[in-house]
Amino acid sequence: MRLANKTILITAAGQGIGRASAIACAAQGAKVIATDRDDSLLAGLDMETHALDVTSQADIAALAAKLPDLDGLFNCAGYVANGTVLDVTDHDWDFSFELNVKSMLRMCRAFVPGMLRQSGRAGTASLLNMASMASSIKGFPNRAAYGATKAAVIGLTKAIAADYVTTGLRANALCPGTVDTPSLRGRIAASSDPVQAEKDFIARQPMGRLALTDDITPMVLFLLSDESKFVSGQACLVDGGVTI
Ligand code: NAD
Repeated sequence: MRLANKTILITAAGQGIGRASAIACAAQGAKVIATDRDDSLLAGLDMETHALDVTSQADIAALAAKLPDLDGLFNCAGYVANGTVLDVTDHDWDFSFELNVKSMLRMCRAFVPGMLRQSGRAGTASLLNMASMASSIKGFPNRAAYGATKAAVIGLTKAIAADYVTTGLRANALCPGTVDTPSLRGRIAASSDPVQAEKDFIARQPMGRLALTDDITPMVLFLLSDESKFVSGQACLVDGGVTI
């Protein structure tokens, strides 16, 4: 029970890495609060669930007012906009920053005060922000907006880590390689040649396969638990060796 007595909120917990993380954290004894914009996706999770659109500061504040102080917060929500700098639209650029980066600011405004109280009581609290290996640590084609946002997540995380390093509140960024999730399947299906698109995603993974969500959750558990209490401000790669 690596997360016994921990209260952990996860955004975008309806599917993919967020859902797998919610299940893994609960299995390690955490009281998990699983949230997603689409609350129908939260069905079947054996834990407290709430609809939460992380682009709404009002909805975030309303939920925070109902919840206890958190030991852990995993800001997982994010999405991929395709395109080079020549074809990314203003809408996709702005919405990428709105969802992938500013939602983290909104969540921090609402929950960091309670996490600081909790780290004062318990000695440690952990903030985990979802970045990515792709296009922030290593460049990939057609990811101008996505790469810019995920690099921004790493910068934001380091700034938070520096601000609170003496308080017991730690902040780290998670940088997965390509993970087999519903949105990845959707991007493969939406491509002009889905068979080739899947081969291309696998080809950029030197281990010859996509990550499963269960390849990512051990790092989530480590970073949200006190096992990582001497780790802060890091961009933690779980990428199957892409960046060797
Ligand atoms: P996914 O993209 O399949 O699911 C995303 C979830 O986010 C959905 O349940 C959706 O309802 C929810 N969501 C969308 N907008 C929301 C909003 N405004 N508020 C709250 N929830 C919202 O899941 P995934 O592929 O595991 O991606 C999750 C995160 O992991 C994203 O930040 C993504 O950038 C990052 N990531 C994914 C991969 C990958 O290969 N899948 C790799 C690196 C990083």
